[in-house]
Amino acid sequence: MIMDCGLYFHIPFCIKKCIYCDFLSFPRSSGYTCREEEYFTALSNEWRERSALVTDGVDTVYIGGGTPSSVSPRRIYDILNDVRGRAALRENAEITVEVNPGTVSEEHFRIYKEAGVNRISIGIQSTQERLLRSLGRIHTYKDCEAAVRMARNAGISNISCDLIFGIPSVCEEPAQTYEELKEDIERLILLGVRHISAYSIIVEEGTPLYELYKCGRAFDADPDTERRMYYYIRKRLVKEGIQRYEISNYAYPGHESRHNMKYWECRPYLGIGLGAASYYPGSNDDYIRETNTRDPDEYMSGRYRGETEVISAEEQKREFMMLGFRKMSGPSPEMYKERFGTDCSDDFKDEIRRLKDKGLVYKKDGSMRLTLKGCDFANEVFREFVL
Ligand code: SF4
Repeated sequence: MIMDCGLYFHIPFCIKKCIYCDFLSFPRSSGYTCREEEYFTALSNEWRERSALVTDGVDTVYIGGGTPSSVSPRRIYDILNDVRGRAALRENAEITVEVNPGTVSEEHFRIYKEAGVNRISIGIQSTQERLLRSLGRIHTYKDCEAAVRMARNAGISNISCDLIFGIPSVCEEPAQTYEELKEDIERLILLGVRHISAYSIIVEEGTPLYELYKCGRAFDADPDTERRMYYYIRKRLVKEGIQRYEISNYAYPGHESRHNMKYWECRPYLGIGLGAASYYPGSNDDYIRETNTRDPDEYMSGRYRGETEVISAEEQKREFMMLGFRKMSGPSPEMYKERFGTDCSDDFKDEIRRLKDKGLVYKKDGSMRLTLKGCDFANEVFREFVL
């Protein structure tokens, strides 16, 4: 049974696949987009089944993908109506929709607003036309500016943007330069968005980008330049008052993503849709992690479930520490005590001592946090908590 639940809805449709993308999404050419009606029926049925788990209100909803804005905004309206019909959606709930700037119109934002959406996450990725093209994005930077303007005009001012850095050289197009990244940051600051997620590009197996690497048509950006970009982003955004609150996420105070904080604080959430994950209390002290099937045919025929894992209290504690260290405020000792009844500094004495000795974590205001070096070697910190 879940109190203060976060809900995630997955919309797996896109116009076209970006060359670096390994998300569970289908481009128009795949043929799945013409089964949209069937997918949304399955989504609604799954939510009807799942909603029995929500006992005391939903305080965040995140509609992601894929590209939720590639389907009619009425679909988003219907999902949120459906949420209200089966659970108590809190009045101050954070309701986010992800949009691709190449797929939105004034009407999208007007209907989103009408549906109660109060946060928009825009996949800008770069402000350089040549890089947007080489990544296979379907929009221009002008489209991004227009999306921000249209969202605000509709009355949605809580806007987040995703940015990618360290973009490689692809098919003779040179890699992203340091100056280009600096311009990206200045443009986002000028746009006045409230939240920025900045990720170094990862070349995932199975993507077109990976294939281009394999046949020698794509090359990494210079690693030193990529690191300079990473440091510059933090320095420049923090100078602007946009605080880094998670390894890759920055926000003006009060504009941190409440939904994503649930993931980093190991709080319960339900994921509805293809491949979506849920995490919620089970019997005794156990938690359940469920991952839906990634097979669209299976999902649309009503067989939603993929894997189910039972997470023991010991495993939960380790996950709490590992994910908590992603936040700049570190794992909260108060939340830990409230949930597990013990002190994290006692339960993980040896791990914390080792990390302190390496200069990767330090103590501030009663909680352990990553040092700047710890941010660079975050995987080493997380590894300490793997069983
Ligand atoms: S728009 Fe997003 S989900 Fe769709 S292909 Fe591009 S990166 Fe992937």
